[in-house]
Amino acid sequence: MNRKHKIVIVSVIVVLLLFSYGFWQYKKPKPERISYNQFLHEVQQNHVEKVFLNQGETIEGILKDDTRFVTDNPRKEGLKEELLKADIIVDEMKDQEMLNQAISYVILIGATIIIFFIALKKSPQAQSKKSKVGMNLKPEEGVKVNFSDIAGNQEAVQSVEELIDFINNPEKYSKYGARMPRGVILYGPPGTGKTLLAKAIAGEAGVPFYAVSGSDFVQVYVGVGAARIRELFKRARQSEKCVIFIDEIDALGKKRDGGLDGGGNDERDQTLNALLAEMSGFNENQGIVVVAATNRLDTLDEALLRPGRFDRHIEIGLPDVKARLKILELHSKNKPIHEDVDLEKLAHQTVYFSGAQLENLMNEAAILAAKKGNGMIDQHDIDRAFYTVIAGYEKKDRSAISHMDRMITAYHESGHALITKLIAPENRVSKVTIIPSTKGAGGFSMNIPPNRMYYKKKDMENNIKIMLAGRCAEEIIFGKENITTGASNDLEKATEVLIDMVRRFGMTDSSGLLNYDVLYRNGIKQVQDNFIDEAKRSLDDLYANVKDLLVKKKTLLVAIAERLLDEETLDEAQLDQIIQNAA
Ligand code: ATP
Repeated sequence: MNRKHKIVIVSVIVVLLLFSYGFWQYKKPKPERISYNQFLHEVQQNHVEKVFLNQGETIEGILKDDTRFVTDNPRKEGLKEELLKADIIVDEMKDQEMLNQAISYVILIGATIIIFFIALKKSPQAQSKKSKVGMNLKPEEGVKVNFSDIAGNQEAVQSVEELIDFINNPEKYSKYGARMPRGVILYGPPGTGKTLLAKAIAGEAGVPFYAVSGSDFVQVYVGVGAARIRELFKRARQSEKCVIFIDEIDALGKKRDGGLDGGGNDERDQTLNALLAEMSGFNENQGIVVVAATNRLDTLDEALLRPGRFDRHIEIGLPDVKARLKILELHSKNKPIHEDVDLEKLAHQTVYFSGAQLENLMNEAAILAAKKGNGMIDQHDIDRAFYTVIAGYEKKDRSAISHMDRMITAYHESGHALITKLIAPENRVSKVTIIPSTKGAGGFSMNIPPNRMYYKKKDMENNIKIMLAGRCAEEIIFGKENITTGASNDLEKATEVLIDMVRRFGMTDSSGLLNYDVLYRNGIKQVQDNFIDEAKRSLDDLYANVKDLLVKKKTLLVAIAERLLDEETLDEAQLDQIIQNAA
């Protein structure tokens, strides 16, 4: 019987009780109205047994033959004494009646409450599921998911591997005074396996897994979210070691707007503060790890990201071709796949697919095959599933669009990587990819300059050249009229560096050693025009320089871009190899 049924039944019982009470009151014999003279007569005749004086207004009473009567009381004084002298029992009727009525009401209300309580008391099962703060806080015990269920994402898996040891042997670390990471944020596009990874941490460590969503804590009533956070951590502490997973942490941890909207959002602030307080409060060497997930790290409140809170940030990106192949293989394991199916080809076709989309693709194919009943999933099923999945995610023909986009991204990123290798070999290019991530909309080339106290003019110029190389590669390969918006971020950064060179560091000839900031502060504004001219000329010169170099090394540029189109991600060793082979 569900809650609704119970409420209906209890309400019916209560209404019946009220009815019977009213009926009983109604059916109670009514006293007979008699005249005052008749009353005096009955008193004289010694027929009256008992009299209730209703605060002197009326006289009610019972005759010796049990007849009840009522009459008006014209005498306010002395009547009681006279009646008592005549051996009649006298009662203050109002008090008595009120008391009787009060008792019946108390019994009635008490009975109603008890019935409600018994009927609506949750079964122990339901009770353990929902806490008193009204949300499901039951952990998942004996989690079956582990690292072998995650394909690709190896860097992320490695980053969380040590957590397992932290959870299981906190003493080992506390002996050395090491602080266990309290909070880990997994960030990346939807469906890339953030929940899967969090669950696998619990599975590998063999500890309970508490999964909640940030939106569970955003409530209409101020204080409910904070109470839920406290309850969650209280339960977690009872489990001793565990993993708490908060999905969509941005729902409660968005940057605070400093009261710009007129006082801010009280409820969210309270909830966030409760979370921060709980995270700072629990014993770090107890074996509790809080893992949160978000699609956008940059929207989170700084307070969440400080040391001692969510101080580890792990990016979970879209899989590249190798990772996609692994994910497809993983999700084919328990399926009868026909030998004509080429998973490698499929991995190449599914650019920008997330892990969840790949899993969905294999599942759709399995459903189609099961409907046909041929006993195997063949290439035809996969092809149909591919279009079903694409149609489900977006209307346009993704494969056609993505091919041109990928070419542009590949040349753009190859430009950055190649110029880095040619002009700044001391910089590291740890990764070049055409898979979009938070670091770059199209793809990115990770250029890490060595740590230095001072930067030479040449270093800064080289940096600008590296930034311009993406646009330059696009122009060389696709023509001046086909350059794209992809370079906007590069141009912004290049301009910033150049302006610093001119304005602050006295590094260009015509600006001399003047500090332009000081000139502006002193109201000398006429320098502005030559300042822009100077900066533009320098950028043009640097661009021309990069272009010369890239034109000379075009074969190398093409080789890197083609390899990128094929493999989607290249590490430094692969990049060096391509450059060496061409030499
Ligand atoms: P969201 O941001 O939408 O919450 P998410 O990043 O948490 O998504 P999951 O819910 O973990 O993504 O992934 C959904 C499903 O996709 C997983 O249960 C799994 O089947 C599949 N999947 C995603 N990534 C991988 C992967 N790297 N390896 C294997 N399966 C994956």
